[in-house]
Amino acid sequence: GRELARSKAGECVRVVVRVRPLNSTEKQEGYEAAAIVDEQRASISLTNPSAAASEPPKVFTFDQVYGPTAQQKQIYDRTAAAIVESVCEGYNGTIFAYGQTGAGKTHTMEGCRDPPELKGIIPNSFKHIFDKIAAEGSDHKQFLVRASYLEIYMEECRDLLAHNPKNKLELKESVDSGVYVKDQRVEIVKSVAEIDRLMQEGNGKRKVGATRMNQTSSRSHSIFSIVVETSELDESSGEAKIRVGKLNLVDLAGSERQSKTGATGERLEEATKINLSLSALGNVISALVGSKSQHIPYRDSKLTRLLQDSLGGNTKTVMIANCGPADYNYDETLSTLRYADRAK
Ligand code: ADP
Ligand code: MG
Repeated sequence: GRELARSKAGECVRVVVRVRPLNSTEKQEGYEAAAIVDEQRASISLTNPSAAASEPPKVFTFDQVYGPTAQQKQIYDRTAAAIVESVCEGYNGTIFAYGQTGAGKTHTMEGCRDPPELKGIIPNSFKHIFDKIAAEGSDHKQFLVRASYLEIYMEECRDLLAHNPKNKLELKESVDSGVYVKDQRVEIVKSVAEIDRLMQEGNGKRKVGATRMNQTSSRSHSIFSIVVETSELDESSGEAKIRVGKLNLVDLAGSERQSKTGATGERLEEATKINLSLSALGNVISALVGSKSQHIPYRDSKLTRLLQDSLGGNTKTVMIANCGPADYNYDETLSTLRYADRAK
């Protein structure tokens, strides 16, 4: 009964932690790594820099753990590819990047354009989908790919592809399509180049605010969604069988607490709303993986409401929690590991 239900749900939500390398400034300033990764054991041990030397490090274990030398392609292949594959087969899937500003969320999701080895999960998924279409598409099996891109800022949805991104979009619900965003621009894309261009267009419109921690830190959640529709002709009946899968690629807002960022006024209000939606997401995931069949609180934030049909059920979800290794990040890294730990 319960154990079975738990392991079934557990298979659909995976929690992965990635610890980035110390950057050159951190090395120059002589920071030590407080988070040490053991990829084989899928564990991380975290040492409190201000504790007595006799205090043992805290050890956390996850489904997978990546250390500073992990390569983008390796993470794609081991963590994201299976979800993209199942989206092409008609299931929904969601990949989240969580963590404090500067921990590597955008590096993990988007990466760098050059050199190509630094491309992150989003561009790798574009290539995966169109390679698959090139390999499997035929007169009898046709694919239709649609993309959309939005952000949630201060609990409001904005279309990153709209010509006027100031527009606030409304979430609606219908019996047929579940929760959807009214008047969102959704584009049909026929190649990697086309979908890549859409992503670039949306990136240009992201709301970014400068905080003390990172000049380009993003205070919003961004959600790049790809719908893959497959229409396959059944030779015997002559009828087309249609499958629709949706992939959500989510770069979450920074999880840092406001005390560290020195936020006041509008920044503080932003931080409060970010904390609220991240904890709502944590609550939904922990309810999904929990042993008791319980109410899943999707309605507590825009993010969880929007992703309702892509979290739980027979959808696949991966949470990639990103951490900075340096000892001055100890508190934030501990809070990220605890958040991730609760989601397993
Ligand atoms: P976030 O989106 O969480 O605020 P970023 O992805 O922008 O953080 O990462 C902050 C900086 O660290 C960027 O310059 C990024 O290129 C670099 N970085 C992050 N993760 C890695 C990594 N695994 N390897 C090398 N550089 C990284
Ligand atoms: Mg970022």
